[in-house]
Amino acid sequence: MTRGCAPRTRRRDGGAGASGANRPLIERQGGDPSTRVNVHRRYKGIPWWGWAAAAVLYVGAAAAAVEFAWSRAIDALAEVGAHRLDLYAASLTSELGRFEMVPALVARQDSVRALLKASPDEARARLPAVDAYLEAVNRDVGSGAVDVIDAHGTVIAASNWNQPVSFVGTNVSYRPYFIDALAQGRGRFFGIGTNTGIPGLYFASAIRDGDAAIGAAAVKVSVDALESAWRTPGEAAVVVDSNGVVVISTEPEWKFTALRAMTPQQQREIQASRQYAGRIVEALPHRRVGDWNDAAWIGVFPDLRRAGRTARYLVMSRPAPQGQDTIMVLLDTAGARRQQRLAFVSVTGVFLIAALYALYAVQRRRVIVEKLKAQEALRRANDQLETTVAQRTAALTEANARMQREIIEREHTEQRLRATQQEVVHAGKLAVIGQMAAALTHELNQPLVAIRTLCDNARTFFERNQPAQAIANLERVARLVDSMAVLTSELKAFARKPEVERVAVSLAEAVAHARLIYESRIRDEAVRLDVRIAPGPTVYAESSQLQQVIVNLLGNALDAVRDASTRVIAMDASEPDASGCVRFTIDDSGPGIAPDVLAHLFEPFVTTKPRGQGLGLGLAITSRIVEGFGARITAANREEGGARFTIEFAAAEPQRTEHGR
Ligand code: ADP
Repeated sequence: MTRGCAPRTRRRDGGAGASGANRPLIERQGGDPSTRVNVHRRYKGIPWWGWAAAAVLYVGAAAAAVEFAWSRAIDALAEVGAHRLDLYAASLTSELGRFEMVPALVARQDSVRALLKASPDEARARLPAVDAYLEAVNRDVGSGAVDVIDAHGTVIAASNWNQPVSFVGTNVSYRPYFIDALAQGRGRFFGIGTNTGIPGLYFASAIRDGDAAIGAAAVKVSVDALESAWRTPGEAAVVVDSNGVVVISTEPEWKFTALRAMTPQQQREIQASRQYAGRIVEALPHRRVGDWNDAAWIGVFPDLRRAGRTARYLVMSRPAPQGQDTIMVLLDTAGARRQQRLAFVSVTGVFLIAALYALYAVQRRRVIVEKLKAQEALRRANDQLETTVAQRTAALTEANARMQREIIEREHTEQRLRATQQEVVHAGKLAVIGQMAAALTHELNQPLVAIRTLCDNARTFFERNQPAQAIANLERVARLVDSMAVLTSELKAFARKPEVERVAVSLAEAVAHARLIYESRIRDEAVRLDVRIAPGPTVYAESSQLQQVIVNLLGNALDAVRDASTRVIAMDASEPDASGCVRFTIDDSGPGIAPDVLAHLFEPFVTTKPRGQGLGLGLAITSRIVEGFGARITAANREEGGARFTIEFAAAEPQRTEHGR
């Protein structure tokens, strides 16, 4: 069978995937055994009681820290307070002590004593000298005022004798310091000046004449300097007298207020002594809220910084060095409260950080658990996949083995088939030879019988001396021999194996050649020949054989249309298609190929033509030639009537030659 111009090479691919076949399909997910957890259990995080315990711990720690900070700060304040009390006691001793001896010294002055003892006239004469002396003393020691009081309690000489507000002439007999001086030799008290209205500390000494007290010398000291020196931000320092009244105070508003509730008797005595210039001594609003230790307590007092508000102070006190006074210091506890807040904030911060870390750790653990779960799921999926792959591989292996067996069986069958085919071919060849022998016998026997008869007749004519008839017989013998020679030459052409050299041959030229051969017949038989072949397409063929093929096909077509009503023959050739194929067709308007002939058309000795007109070798030879070109010939009847022969050539690239087999 012919091969046609189907694609000549088919790429056989073993399968790119085969290279990956040996690779492991699944890489097992390992996993650190230390991180293995029970992934089937849900990770719940920190339990409620854990948080509750942490909350209790937090409350305890915060309370302890606040308490500790408070106690440390108050201890530190108490230390400061103790130091302040020592300092104020020392300053009281040094500041006031230096004035205490002044009245005693004045009392010993002769001029003073003489003044007290003198008659009124003499006294008038002595007074300026005493006033001048007192003025000098007052200036030298830096006291507020120095004065001399007679036995009736009237001030008769004073350092401020020449001042607008002078003590001279004032009666101080009701003043405790005068009373004490006359009675006990010395007097001392805090009070407000009856003339000046200025608070001060009064020291007094009796002036004696022998054993009798004839008057008293007194010095008044201002405590302003002391108060200024003691003033410290956030602190208050006060000196409280035996009545519980504030007599020295770094807070001006607190002065002459009482820290203790006073009995009506005490109020009356105070009014009588005009100690506080007749003022009603008001209570200093305060509240004791707790004890710190033996020497200190916590009290709420008017705020030192903000008027109208209160604040907590650490209050410490100690007896003053002289007399029955008490020194008190009040230290603001705001710093301690700040320390408390700081401690609270610190503990809260630490707990918050710890809580955040715990939450982070819980979250992290949760993420790890989720990750491990995912790994576990992946591992299981991989295991399953491996099992599936193993099963499939086993099935494939089995199928492969089955296929191998089938291939072997098929090979055996093929071998058997090939043997059978060879036998059939052999038998076919024998049949063809037999067929050929029969045809030849038939074709040659008739002329041979005729020649024999003609020769016998010729001899008879020669014997009868009729040479003209004899010669006519011999001529007929010669014609018969010629036709026998044609027959044998056709056989020779059929028998010859087509050894051709294929080159690029123009189809148009081969057609033109055939047309030339049949030119007179086409014209005589009035056949319309449509040739639609461009000069372009060249095909792989051998020039003379291609001409022979076209001549054969055109000859058959002319035979077919000879008795037809319309006699049309058309020849076409396509341009090379994508697969490099040139399709040549020859159509005719004849009766078409007889159905019983169609199946054996290309076999030798198949013919429907009358004896002597066809041997049935034309298409057999054509088919062999076409096959030799590597082309393919087919025949079919057209729907519109007539036959169509098609040859599919391999298109040749111009200028290129190729050697055929
Ligand atoms: P021959 O021409 O000697 O018969 P061929 O092999 O050329 O031998 O043709 C074989 C037969 O094919 C012909 O006898 C004819 O019946 C049939 N045949 C060939 N070409 C045509 C055609 N164009 N139309 C119809 N029949 C055809």
